[in-house]
Amino acid sequence: MDWILECSDCGITAAPDGLPTVCLACGRPLLVRYPGREHPMTERAEARRRHGMWRFRSFLPLEGGEEPITLGEGDTPLLRAPRLASALGLGDIWIKDEGCNPTGSFKSRGLSAAITRAVRAGATRFVVPTAGNAGVASAAYAARAGASVRVFAPRTTPRTILSQIVSFGGDLVLLDGHIGDCGKASRAYAAETGAMDLSTLREPYRIEGKKTLGLEIAMQFNWTLPDAIIYPTGGGTGLIGMWKAFVELRQAGWVTSELPRLYTVQSTGCAPIVKAFAAGALQAEPWPDPWTIASGLRVPGPLGDKLMLRVLRETNGGAVAVTDDTMGELARLGTQQEGVDFSPEGGASLAAAIELQRQGAIRPEDRLIVFNTGAGWLYRGGADLLGGP
Ligand SMILES: *Cc1c(COP(=O)(O)O)cnc(C)c1O
Repeated sequence: MDWILECSDCGITAAPDGLPTVCLACGRPLLVRYPGREHPMTERAEARRRHGMWRFRSFLPLEGGEEPITLGEGDTPLLRAPRLASALGLGDIWIKDEGCNPTGSFKSRGLSAAITRAVRAGATRFVVPTAGNAGVASAAYAARAGASVRVFAPRTTPRTILSQIVSFGGDLVLLDGHIGDCGKASRAYAAETGAMDLSTLREPYRIEGKKTLGLEIAMQFNWTLPDAIIYPTGGGTGLIGMWKAFVELRQAGWVTSELPRLYTVQSTGCAPIVKAFAAGALQAEPWPDPWTIASGLRVPGPLGDKLMLRVLRETNGGAVAVTDDTMGELARLGTQQEGVDFSPEGGASLAAAIELQRQGAIRPEDRLIVFNTGAGWLYRGGADLLGGP
């Protein structure tokens, strides 16, 4: 393999041998580095002719000639939203609609990459703790790889998400508590059975899959970058992945734009990163009694806290918290104004756009991307909006 793993905290490097995990010296997340890779401009033109997230293979952990485990993830729409912009008093706003991925959320990207590498390293059994959508994607990609997965999820996860995990053949176990509690159960299960733990940042390849968010945005904007991006943040792989993508694209000479300002939005019911950012802290404190309808944001103690805070500061971005009521209302509005099926997390991005513009952090002339990270239908029962019996 022509890449190495580097600790995001202590900087120690390691060869990518064996099953992927965290830094063996300090326990913090590892990042993939590709010291020998070349990115000629002919490859940039080639990438445009291919399909899906693996079109960017020169930036991804794949050996020459190797085929990834894929369901066609990526290539999601980047839509200008003029009607929504005028309804909300916003400027040049674009929606990146990740609900169009094969499993209904951008978790497809990370799990396609993680399961590709893990299966190559010999894994046949997986375990994952989830706030919901990572469980769906793990079950789907494990099925695609002919592997099995145990999924630990909070009992309070939206029912439609849980039923998707089961339909893809995931071995679902419901727990009282939040994703942190599911993480403990997963580590115990992995130790006991030898199953590989796919948790956010406990292996380095989900980030590489999420990196394609940034690569794809650059391509969709004809190899330029937007001024600002709002991203509903839980474990932080998307935020860290996009940042890594933009840095690597600039190093490769594929874009020359400045890095976009990256903004995190969380729920007022679980906002550890917003709180740490406001306090100027280098790491986050675990959030007590986390609750939000946006299940993807219910991550009280993310392992990538230091990295996320660094990304927000280095890009001159920021962090805001919004209420569940506001995100629900804006998800409804976005869905009905633009025909995009907004999840509560996507509604949170819209709410943050309004708040950041009010604060003056985002100006109407900024080219702004808001993320709809998952599809709204995953959070509804089939007939929720119809009323009656
Ligand atoms: C997982 C998830 C998030 C949070 O993503 P991270 O990359 O873990 O920060 C946001 N929205 C949805 C719909 C999710 O499933």
